[in-house]
Order: sequence, then C-alpha cells, then structure tokens
Amino acid sequence: MAAPHKLCMIPGPVEFHEDVLAAMASPALSHIAPSFIDCFGRVLENLRHVLLTKSAQPFVVAGSGTLGWDLAVANLIEKGDKALVHNTGVFGDRMGDCLATYGAEVSHVRAPPGHRPSLQEIEQALTADGPFRMITITHVDTSTGVLTDIQAVAEVVRRVSPDTLILVDGVCSVAAEPIRMDDWGIDVVTSAGQKALGTPPGLAVVLASERAMRVFNSRKTPVAAYFASWNRWLPIMQSYEKRTPSYFGTPPVQLIMAMDASLKLILSHGMEKIFAEHAAASDHVKQVLEGWGLKLVPQSREAAAHAMTAVYYPEGVAASALLSSAAAHNVVLAGGLHPTIAAKYFRIGHMGITVYEPQRKYIETTLDALKKALVESGYQLPSQ
Ligand SMILES: *Cc1c(COP(=O)(O)O)cnc(C)c1O
Repeated sequence: MAAPHKLCMIPGPVEFHEDVLAAMASPALSHIAPSFIDCFGRVLENLRHVLLTKSAQPFVVAGSGTLGWDLAVANLIEKGDKALVHNTGVFGDRMGDCLATYGAEVSHVRAPPGHRPSLQEIEQALTADGPFRMITITHVDTSTGVLTDIQAVAEVVRRVSPDTLILVDGVCSVAAEPIRMDDWGIDVVTSAGQKALGTPPGLAVVLASERAMRVFNSRKTPVAAYFASWNRWLPIMQSYEKRTPSYFGTPPVQLIMAMDASLKLILSHGMEKIFAEHAAASDHVKQVLEGWGLKLVPQSREAAAHAMTAVYYPEGVAASALLSSAAAHNVVLAGGLHPTIAAKYFRIGHMGITVYEPQRKYIETTLDALKKALVESGYQLPSQ
C-alpha cells in the first residue's frame, strides 16, 4: 500500500496502483535481461491494444510527454512543410512552436478558451491554406479541459485533404477517452505515462500508423534530431518486440516495468469498460459541481473531457484560499493554466486508477474535500 500522502488529483501525475509502485521498487535489472526484453515487448504490443490499432508502430522512450511531440514532428516534418494546428488551448500553442522548430510553416485554427473550432472552420482552413503535410489535434487540452471530437475532425480531413497526416496529442486522453486509431484513420498518437496510463512521469509514448511510417521512409532530407530520430529508435523497438537484445540509449527499466503493470490492469478491465467508467465518473463529478452552482470551463458537456474537470471558482472565492484549503483536507488540485483565464478556474484530475475499485472512492474523497474547502472559503452552497 502507498504511504499516507495527500491524494494527487491533478491532471497528471496521477495516483499509482500498488502493482505500479511495486514495479518501481524492484531490484536492479539489466535492460537486456530476457525477462526485461519480454516485458518491454509486451508493453509495445499492449499499447496497440489500448489505441485499438493492429498495425501502428509504437515508440516508448525516456522523457516527458513533450518528447513524444519531438519524436513525431522531427521525423514527419521537413523544412517548408505546411502544418495546421487545431488549437483549443495552451498545448496547441506549444505544438505550433514544436512544429516551427523543425521548419514547418504553421497556421492555427483557434477557438476561445472553453470552445473548439467548428468543423466548417476546419474545412475552410484546410482548403484555403493547404495542402498541409500534417494537422495536429489536441484531443483533450489540459489547460481548458476541452475535448475535441477527433473522429469528426478526422472525417473532415480525410474528405477534404486525404494526404494530410493526422496527429493526435493524446497525452491527456489515451486510456481514458476512446481513440480508435485504425477505424478513424489517425496517423500518429502521442502520449505520456503519467496521465491516464497511470505510471510515474518519465515515459514518452508515440504510435505511428503504417502511412506515417511510409511518409517517414520517403523523407527527402535527413532527420534534424539525434536522440529523437526514429532511425535510432525503430530498430530498438522492433528488437524488443521480436524479443531480441539491442541498445541505443538505456531504457528506464523500472518505469517500463511500471507501465507493463499498468497496461495489464487497463487491459484486464477492457478498453470499452475503461472508457465507460471514465465517462460515468466524469458525469458524476460535473453533475455534483454544477449542483453546487459552479460553472465548467468547457462550453458544453459534449466538449468536456472525461478524465479531468476544469471549473471556474465561484464569485468571491479566492483561488489560493480554495486550493490550499483542499490541500489541508489532503487533496491536491491544480490551478488554472490558460493564460487569459488562469486566475479564474481550477482543475481536477480523475483519470487512471480512480475508475477501479477500491480507488473509485478517491473521487468522493476529492468532492468531500472540495465541498469543505468551498465552505471554508466563504461560499454558500445552494440549499438542496
Ligand atoms: C501534459 C500534457 C502534455 C505535456 O506532457 P509532459 O509530460 O508534461 O511533457 C502535452 N499535451 C497534453 C494534452 C498534456 O496534457
């Protein structure tokens, strides 16, 4: 069991399952030990099951989620390529910077905080300014809690601009929101261990479709990155999957074992159940908060993420007071991140193991602490 601590209910890192903690505390093991090779191979195979793809190429590399962007963008973008960012918040702005770093000409189709661009706006941007080598979509923008309907956006892209690669930033959605990579024609999904995948921070995860790998293989210019180059990592990932030893940079052995433990838990529940449980937990949290008279940052429930909730402070409640009062009740929540509204809202993470028994109770613990904190901050809850 985890040592007593304040519950970490932020949008990543999330609470760890005891199997994940045990993996992190395991003895030293060579990165080419047969048992570890088998473990890493299984992690790669299991990530395909999580992303509902048969053929995508997984990459798991030591680094934070942002390294996943470099892994995807450095290998798929060449200088002068056009890229379109479907921008619903801070992570869209940053993705634009990442694309520009590798020489892309970047345009954004933006929406104000809490909103998402309409399908018509996306279609217009694709046709007016294209053709684009890539469109990037933040599935859940963790700064606003806005969920994008990637299936609908992907349909528009496939109809209007069939050669454009579709990259989904799934750092805050993989293993919580449905992503049917093959069925929806998604080319690249990037993620990280510390959100709904349920491991400590330190693993970048990328899955690239066969089409994306073909685009990579037909580059005209060399990859302008050393550590992030797929030329270095592809043979390593293929070796682990074939259960043969290989080495480029030492993998974080215990973190990979932690991800193996977490993926086994996720898949033992089954992806459809995991998605349904996150949706139910999210509906519950949002219903309770709205019942208390609080207003969500996303414009509608349909546009709201299921693994986190971004919610405005009620009138008259000071930001710092509420979060420190919740922490005094042993629940850590996150402040605002979107620069134009940062001081006006806060964020609750409810992803990963909070959908399992017995950890489901963390959600009630969180709502209890928040209710006490609201009252202590001078907020009058509506009478029930
Ligand atoms: C957290 C997050 C990232 C960045 O991940 P790091 O591990 O902090 O580098 C990128 N995109 C989204 C949507 C995120 O939620």
